[in-house]
Amino acid sequence: MPEAIIVGGGMVGLSLSLMLAQAKIKVKILEANRYPKDQGTALVEYHSNFDARNSALSRRSIHIYQQLGLWTVLQQYATPILEVQITEQDSFGHATLRAEEEHVESFGQVIENAWLGRVLLQAVRQSSYVELIDEVEVTALTQNESMVEITAIQAGEPRVFHAPLAVAADGRDSKCREILGVGAEYYDYEQVALVTTVQTSKPHQNVGFERFSPLGPLALLPLPGEYRRSVVWPVKKGEEQQWLGEANDAHFLAALQHAYGDRAGRFEKTAPRFSYPLSQVLAEKQAIGRVVLMGNAAHTLHPVAGQGFNLCLRDADVLVRYLTQHLQHHTDIGTPHVLLAYEKSRLKDQQRVIRFCDSVVKGFSNNHPILKIARNVGLLAFDRIPGIKPLVASYAMGLKA
Ligand SMILES: Cc1cc2nc3c(=O)[nH]c(=O)nc-3n(C[C@H](O)[C@H](O)[C@H](O)COP(=O)(O)OP(=O)(O)OC[C@H]3O[C@@H](n4cnc5c(N)ncnc54)[C@H](O)[C@@H]3O)c2cc1C
Repeated sequence: MPEAIIVGGGMVGLSLSLMLAQAKIKVKILEANRYPKDQGTALVEYHSNFDARNSALSRRSIHIYQQLGLWTVLQQYATPILEVQITEQDSFGHATLRAEEEHVESFGQVIENAWLGRVLLQAVRQSSYVELIDEVEVTALTQNESMVEITAIQAGEPRVFHAPLAVAADGRDSKCREILGVGAEYYDYEQVALVTTVQTSKPHQNVGFERFSPLGPLALLPLPGEYRRSVVWPVKKGEEQQWLGEANDAHFLAALQHAYGDRAGRFEKTAPRFSYPLSQVLAEKQAIGRVVLMGNAAHTLHPVAGQGFNLCLRDADVLVRYLTQHLQHHTDIGTPHVLLAYEKSRLKDQQRVIRFCDSVVKGFSNNHPILKIARNVGLLAFDRIPGIKPLVASYAMGLKA
């Protein structure tokens, strides 16, 4: 039976392992952290792998989880986005996208990573194709013509694993990428994303807001519970401390109210804020012999358009298709030219999403008056030019890949 090792059991590593399992490929996941015990349906707790963040899943991502048979469970914790409103603080421009007008059920669904992670973990634990080995830290990786050898430290002792294919899904600062000697292009946005959940006096009615404020682009997305919304607010690096901690709850709610106006009603309550430094990290190569870089190890993006994880899922989906096609006539799952063909096939979609996210951040972070007018005209035009909205909507939904 074909076998693979995945280094890193974050959301990407776990999702990929389930896709491989469905294709009847045996997988070992090597994860540095310790996973929580199965918590059933108890209230969800944050874990370093599945934290306070939320993911806006595109329709394509939902389709992937439907094919894995997980969507019926995930749906219980997810909220559809039926309308997206894009505005800029202190400006006249605005744009609105409505699912109904685009003839789609929704633009995607928002799910708390803590729930998504728990459902993925449960599915992995139930799969007879996946072996989950946590509390092991990968420290070395070598490969020859037929095999990859991975050394990991578990409870202070080295353990060695072999497989004809390895996938490095070990995050932005990928150890595997470093060991393989693959360089990465690094751009620091000098921003930190504040992430939390708030309660507003007006129900969200399944509307997502993207608001460009002088402090940074602010996203407010609907969550289960009529009045709960997730907040992602990138602010200047070094300025985040004033918003963190319980003592700053009122200060944070007031700032949010000022940046947002009253579209969501009053901002009444906030959960604790968490902060994430924002950078763009792009690996120079993704297929190296019998190893593939995947997820944040391959490309880490600014979260402004909620595209990072969706892009990673599309990569994983395509990789599994390449592997299964190849395995119909061959036995070696890690054949390097197949992995190179996979990498080549993904570059166009990846580069489009990378350019899109980067230009939105940079285009809206500049407060030059001329640029501001251009942005407002752009938003108004976007709202009126026939044909543009369906194009953007379908792209945002991951259907153009
Ligand atoms: C604020 C914010 C909001 C976001 N919102 C969205 C959104 O709405 N939609 C969207 O599509 N994307 C979003 N993203 C992007 C998304 O979160 C990432 O694409 C996704 O988390 C990448 O997951 P990953 O599994 O590749 O990496 P990680 O989550 O970093 O997982 C890597 C795993 O590898 C393990 N590991 C590392 N080193 C080793 C080692 N040496 N040995 C063994 N294990 C190791 C780590 O412990 C970890 O579990 C957002 C990102 C941010 C920062």
